[in-house]
Amino acid sequence: MLEYGTIKNYVGGQWLASQSDENLEIHNPASAAVIAQVPLSTDEEANQAVTVAKETFQEWRETPPLVRARYMFRLKALMEEHFEDLAQIIVKEHGKIIDEARGEVRRAIENVEAAAGIPSLMMGYNAEDIAVGIDEECVVQPAGVFCCIAPFNFPSMVPFWFLPYAVACGNTYIVKPSELCPLSQNRLFELLDEVDFPAGVVNLVNGDRRAVDTLLTHPDMVGVSFVGSTPVGKHIYATAAAHGKRAQCQAGAKNCLVVMSDTMLDRTVPNILTSAFGTAGQRCLAGALVLAVGEVYEPLKAQLVEAASRIKVGDGLDETVQMGPVVSRRSLERIVGYIEKGLEQGAELILDGRGIQVESCPDGYFIGPTIFDKVSAEMVIAREEIFGPVLGIIPVADLDEAISIIHDLPYGNAASIFTASGKSARQFKYQVDCGNIGVNIGIAAPIATFPFSGMKDSFFGDLHGQGRDAISFFTERKVIISRWF
Ligand code: NAD
Repeated sequence: MLEYGTIKNYVGGQWLASQSDENLEIHNPASAAVIAQVPLSTDEEANQAVTVAKETFQEWRETPPLVRARYMFRLKALMEEHFEDLAQIIVKEHGKIIDEARGEVRRAIENVEAAAGIPSLMMGYNAEDIAVGIDEECVVQPAGVFCCIAPFNFPSMVPFWFLPYAVACGNTYIVKPSELCPLSQNRLFELLDEVDFPAGVVNLVNGDRRAVDTLLTHPDMVGVSFVGSTPVGKHIYATAAAHGKRAQCQAGAKNCLVVMSDTMLDRTVPNILTSAFGTAGQRCLAGALVLAVGEVYEPLKAQLVEAASRIKVGDGLDETVQMGPVVSRRSLERIVGYIEKGLEQGAELILDGRGIQVESCPDGYFIGPTIFDKVSAEMVIAREEIFGPVLGIIPVADLDEAISIIHDLPYGNAASIFTASGKSARQFKYQVDCGNIGVNIGIAAPIATFPFSGMKDSFFGDLHGQGRDAISFFTERKVIISRWF
């Protein structure tokens, strides 16, 4: 018996067993045990979800925003009630530690809270007498059916960067979770079912790239919110454009942490460790490269290695553990491959997490904190997203050199500076071409009322997830010019 069985789709207010004969196994990364099966839904099942969502749209858009907001209040209450359960599921399917999972659920709830402001967020504006006796108004209206294509690394939160806003705006919605970690959305949809939205407002379709392409190209699909890797993000963006859909595609990253010599090292080191090794480095905001400016390089390096080697690795459900496994055996092998590449290209491995043994979990997908010194900006480990607990250190002469390394990278998701100098901080936030900037903050994660930004190969589109951007993405603006005879 699998702990979570074979999960179902949720379409039109019903839980439906997929007719697909293709299923994937879901593993608990700490134990490698199979805990569930996820179906790879058929084209018919994906199409059916869009049809149902389209049929419900008219009724839902006519529901007053104030009433739609009340669904958000009910959803928030249920998420609070089942908070710990939601966090534990994340740990079991993803591997991150329980405290990080709690933080993720909290962020998901915050988006529901923000979307509950929809009666004022969706207000339009007007002007009298744009010409004699003529008035003009701009009304904000929902647009139809939208979908989310989600990554594995925040299986609970990421779809909630979009779904609450989409639905609060009066659209109907489909989530296609990651096929690696579909259980959190499954549980959240049980709560959405309890909220009792009109059938078809929120829908869940499990599957892989086939379901994605079917959803994305359906004539009734208005737009897609994608979060995942850069190559897939480019594909989604191009496919969406070719089919006349709106798209916001948040993609991969290679984030730099710049450390100036005037920083308070004892405050900086823990921040860097959390950034690089939290969620075993599987965060799009993870610090991947430390750019050590001037004389801070030697003491910083020594302190990082000393502190990182003390990080306790193990099953994320153990409250004393500080870093869990990576999500899959495949990820583990990919990360080890990058470490070998780093060695081949001449970087110096000063902390090696390979082959770590966790006694209580002998089969888990574990790799310990890993640090490379003497990384140069041209190396593969400096340019590509490793998405694991591997940190590279690059010594640089000054802030200008650090910024030029950041700008040479293809990505523009996040970058942080650690400094006591307001002048350096200002130069950094003014010049750096990244969407999320941290000043003495290792993980610059925007809260629900701000856009989750990103630039260059880290984002394709113009309107981001969360905040005011979300309201614009999920609505049409209609202008009405009136004269009464
Ligand atoms: P992924 O690109 O492999 O998968 C993301 C989603 O796309 C999944 O639902 C998957 O089923 C679907 N997909 C995969 N291949 C596809 C294809 N060929 N055609 C259509 N759909 C396809 O990403 P992942 O490994 O699940 O997630 C990790 C990545 O996500 C990292 O690159 C990370 O940086 C990125 N990420 C970015 C942000 C951000 O806000 N910028 C946030 C979280 C994660």
